[in-house]
Amino acid sequence: MSREELPGLVLRKRSLDARRGRIRRHLSLELLPADAERGLGLGIAPGSELAAPQPREVKGPARVVIIGDGPCGLFCAYELARAGIACIVLDRGKPVQPRRHDLKGLTRRGTVDADSNYCFGEGGAGTYSDGKLYTRAHKRGPVRDVLEILALHGAPAEVLVEARPHIGTNRLPAVITALREKLESVGVQFRFGARVTGILRAGSPARVSGVQLADGTELGADAVVLATGHSARDVYHLLDSAGHRLEAKSFALGVRIEHPQPLINRIQYGELAEHPALPSAAYQLVDTREGCSVFSFCMCPGGFIVPATTEPEHVVVNGMSPSSRNSRYANSGLVVALEPDALSAAGFAGALGGLALQSAIERAAFAAGGGALKAPATRVTDFLAGRASSSVPDSSYVPGLTPADVSAVLDVTGVRLAATLRTALTQFGRQLRGYVSEEAVLVGVESRTSAPVRIPRDPLSLQSLDWQGLYPAGEGAGYAGGIVSAALDGMRIAKQIAQLAAQ
Ligand SMILES: Cc1cc2nc3c(=O)[nH]c(=O)nc-3n(C[C@H](O)[C@H](O)[C@H](O)COP(=O)(O)OP(=O)(O)OC[C@H]3O[C@@H](n4cnc5c(N)ncnc54)[C@H](O)[C@@H]3O)c2cc1C
Repeated sequence: MSREELPGLVLRKRSLDARRGRIRRHLSLELLPADAERGLGLGIAPGSELAAPQPREVKGPARVVIIGDGPCGLFCAYELARAGIACIVLDRGKPVQPRRHDLKGLTRRGTVDADSNYCFGEGGAGTYSDGKLYTRAHKRGPVRDVLEILALHGAPAEVLVEARPHIGTNRLPAVITALREKLESVGVQFRFGARVTGILRAGSPARVSGVQLADGTELGADAVVLATGHSARDVYHLLDSAGHRLEAKSFALGVRIEHPQPLINRIQYGELAEHPALPSAAYQLVDTREGCSVFSFCMCPGGFIVPATTEPEHVVVNGMSPSSRNSRYANSGLVVALEPDALSAAGFAGALGGLALQSAIERAAFAAGGGALKAPATRVTDFLAGRASSSVPDSSYVPGLTPADVSAVLDVTGVRLAATLRTALTQFGRQLRGYVSEEAVLVGVESRTSAPVRIPRDPLSLQSLDWQGLYPAGEGAGYAGGIVSAALDGMRIAKQIAQLAAQ
């Protein structure tokens, strides 16, 4: 068939398969009927519009307060606005633009603003993140709806079709701003610099009646959505001291590994490594033995390692990449899964045991880095030989790396993480030839992969088991593990609130 004879086409899915040294692109295309508009549509028929319903004008006083403007809180507000329900979104951090200034403070001066950083502020941890949108949460809700909403607010249309959709850290802030502006235009209120320090309750059994802010002001509410993310440690302590139930949950902790991107390209693409049609190569690794699992996490091809702490004198690293994924480095989390029982046995018992472990390792990383958020680092070859490095390769981590013994940092609490990581790394070196290399460096510590605490809620009403009207939500409450799943959880809560309002 000549190009002119082709009917209208919709590209439904696109993926790259580089397994076993053969590089293939897989495309799923839908052929439209002969009378449909000609051309190629990305995820939708040429000439048609995205179907995601828009928010509508919200009515009446806002009786729903959402704490946290991360993906969970933001998409909760979006879904409420679709139902015409007014809400106020509170966030301890700053809007996208001034927040950028505080990120410079972190990377260039090593100064930490405990309310404005890579985790806190407009858009939450999702704004200056990598923006990978793939998820295993398809059973939890309409992933396509989330992707369409993002595409309607400035994300590239490719996110609708890529098997591994990615927005990129350079584009995310504009998408988050556009979402807020759309919601403000229909009457949703946003307040920044609004740290919540108390949840007000009345009656017996207790029912939420509002929230208290750090400046002492109080806001009344019939429903409070608690979407404060996994780094709001003060919120867990607040609930704990007020007698709200919390549970320890499994989480993962380890390091970030960084390689030169050309090395990963060679490993994955062989002699086609620098072919201009190929993107910076990614990988995914997992090693499970004797019930213990080590896996790569949030791999960022062509990306950067960033300081993701929310507290001074703690070092936490994470990764992100721009949409072009064109930096000289490839980084990924390499983390060990930790179960509450194992932590309990090591002296980190109770619901907040995981938090205490994270914090102790982050402080040890700060000390080993030597201050100013420099991160301790060990070459992979030295790590496997059980010694500290005397020098480390160049890195994308702007505050700088300090040659050190990352094993000592990981094992500072007595929970033996380094040996588990060493066994897995040896295995990964067999799987990907060249992965264990003098040029590869381990950077400590990747401690905030997910929440170590769950705030229990009723599976049907989605409300707290202890305080009626409180909706624990998103990653911080233990019901999500990424941008899309957090957004889905927020939407699910909103639908529940709308259903109750309609009764
Ligand atoms: C550098 C980096 C890269 C990442 N890359 C990816 C990726 O590529 N793909 C992916 O899926 N995930 C990624 N993540 C993880 C992802 O960002 C989170 O899973 C997601 O943002 C969780 O959403 P959430 O809404 O539940 O919580 P959060 O995004 O953590 O939002 C919580 C919000 O609550 C606010 N808050 C906290 N306490 C209070 C309080 N007391 N009062 C008022 N407000 C408060 C915070 O300021 C914050 O804005 C990345 C994270 C980081 C840090």
